[in-house]
Amino acid sequence: HMVTVRYADGKGWYEPRVEARAPIPMDPAAAVLHYAQEIFEGLKAYTLPDSGVAMFRPDANAARFAESAQRMAMPQLPVETFLRSLHEIIKIDRQWIPQSDEGSLYLRPFAYASEVFLGVRPAMEYLYLVIASPVGPYFSGGVKPVSVWVTPDYTRAAPGGTGAAKCGGNYAAGLSAQAEAIENGCDQVVYLDAVERKYIDELGGMNVFFVLDDGTLVTPPLTGTILPGITRDSVIKLAGRAGHKVEERPVSLEEWRTGAASGKIREAFACGTAAVITPIGTVKSADSQFTVADGGTGEVTAALRKQLVDIQRGRAEDPFGWVHRVI
Ligand code: PMP
Repeated sequence: HMVTVRYADGKGWYEPRVEARAPIPMDPAAAVLHYAQEIFEGLKAYTLPDSGVAMFRPDANAARFAESAQRMAMPQLPVETFLRSLHEIIKIDRQWIPQSDEGSLYLRPFAYASEVFLGVRPAMEYLYLVIASPVGPYFSGGVKPVSVWVTPDYTRAAPGGTGAAKCGGNYAAGLSAQAEAIENGCDQVVYLDAVERKYIDELGGMNVFFVLDDGTLVTPPLTGTILPGITRDSVIKLAGRAGHKVEERPVSLEEWRTGAASGKIREAFACGTAAVITPIGTVKSADSQFTVADGGTGEVTAALRKQLVDIQRGRAEDPFGWVHRVI
């Protein structure tokens, strides 16, 4: 199925519908096709041990969707409408939720400028939709460390740009960088900051953390050029509760390289909705290559991953009230 809600200036959001998933008619002059006024979110619905169904922190996705809308000069969708749309698609497509331990129904809410108008200004008509798709576990056969390529050529986001918004344009701009990572034998791209090209920003679709030898966690700060990941925020809160010191500060590629060599940086991991927490094994850049510790999965990384997945899946206490039951 799909959920649709329309918007027109002066009328607001109207005509919420749940209907059979089908192609959407679009005029060739629809504003989104020309100026890319489009935003989206991604989250999962999954089965709990008692056969109920839950989502993880959907209110945080709603808040980020609102922030993205603001940056892209789009109208705000009320939080209640966002949450209701997710509830409705989950209920009607419940049979598509995998029963397996780690499978889930991936939910993709998005909105775009549907107005038929070729002038460059914010559109006055929009369409909001939700589609869903079953996904298997990200890692079949156990968590495996990823290798990353630090791109010397491409920037994901610059100060004042759209890096903190979840808009399609950011991802279109990153496709060449991801292709470059694959050509260099790596799984994922890592972006450096646009100004000094020195500090680690994030991966193509994940935020990054470093674990120091004293157990401190370090992650790049939210200065507007990286996506404020919901997994990132959850890791900060969980790690703090588990007694780790957590610092949000810039980390240069040089600090990572020398820290990995000296043992000062013991582990590094990436995090996001899709893979939850993924260890980073090998780091390659134009002029260096190194591994973090022995290139395997670190202890802190494994423990945080287990804690987070157990909370999400309803196997552990939920101290922050993150699990949002739908059924
Ligand atoms: N950074 C980028 C660029 C992403 O696309 C994602 C995935 N949404 C993340 C970080 C992680 O965000 P989250 O934990 O909310 O999935």
